[in-house]
Amino acid sequence: MENALEGMARLNAEGRYLYANAAYARMCGVPDPLDGRCWEEFVHPFDRAEMSNVYLTMRSDGRSEGECRGQRPDGTVYYKRFRRQEDAGTFEGRFDGHYCFASDVTDRRGFELQMRQQMQALTEYSLQLETKSAELADANRMLESLAQNDGLTGVPNHRTMQDRLRGEFARCQRGAHPLSFLLLDIDHFKAYNDAHGHPEGDEVLRMVAALLTSEARTSDVVARYGGEEFAVILPDTDLDSALAIAERFRQVIESHAWTLRPITTSIGVACTTTYGANPGALIEAADKALYQAKRGGRNQVFAASADGKAA
Ligand code: GH3
Ligand code: MG
Ligand code: MG
Repeated sequence: MENALEGMARLNAEGRYLYANAAYARMCGVPDPLDGRCWEEFVHPFDRAEMSNVYLTMRSDGRSEGECRGQRPDGTVYYKRFRRQEDAGTFEGRFDGHYCFASDVTDRRGFELQMRQQMQALTEYSLQLETKSAELADANRMLESLAQNDGLTGVPNHRTMQDRLRGEFARCQRGAHPLSFLLLDIDHFKAYNDAHGHPEGDEVLRMVAALLTSEARTSDVVARYGGEEFAVILPDTDLDSALAIAERFRQVIESHAWTLRPITTSIGVACTTTYGANPGALIEAADKALYQAKRGGRNQVFAASADGKAA
């Protein structure tokens, strides 16, 4: 027992040491035998009250174990793991003292503390990482929207329109559905800008985009084609329906309560039932029809006809 690596001690019913082996004495920082000294002397003052409770538990249950802080006579604080067991000699309900097995676990506690601190740092770091990646996702979404939409009107830009047209064109072709395409140009817009200035002209462009968007179906794509021109993709729409829709767009814009002067538009319409070779052919046909609408006196809708001429 004397040479055992674990600290071992025997205490009497008053909690005073009757015996402590070398390891126990070393842990307590006392070179001499502990004989006669009370266990409380070697427990850190902060843990004494709790240890008294543990002591009582042992007296009712016959054993107790746990960890507490110890304080050596030189003031150093350490953690010890203990296991106390009532003396087997206890009989007829008479408490006759107990054994205490204890070892210094300061290193392990320090390691655990370090681990806890590192885990906490890691948790904080991963929270920061989560916040950063959410911010990055937001920034990416914004960049994507900036790259896809027109900065002035907020509707899809020319490139996005081309992408969407390719996609819708292929989809309608697969399903053997017609698809129509509108090109819409504001009439005499240069004169409007000249008379009222570019900022007022910009307001008109925003309003035309808003009116078209609110009139269109959710499956349609209203885009800024460039300058004062807008494109509208009408999936699953034949020429007659497209002409009716274009006429509605024309009327909505014409009848809007414009404050400075009336705004009208000319619209060219083309449908894949006639111009279905490829998206480029459809745009070209709508452009020709738009030109005809301009030539015809503006503020009107024109459809590209089967022989390639506008009708
Ligand atoms: P038309 O009826 O033949 O279409 O006549 P127009 O004056 O509308 O056509 P034109 O091509 O001569 O002029 C287009 C005008 O559109 C000129 C340009 O200043 C204006 N425009 C194009 N982009 C913008 C823009 O982003 N903001 C403003 N305010 N004006 C623009
Ligand atoms: Mg134009
Ligand atoms: Mg114009």
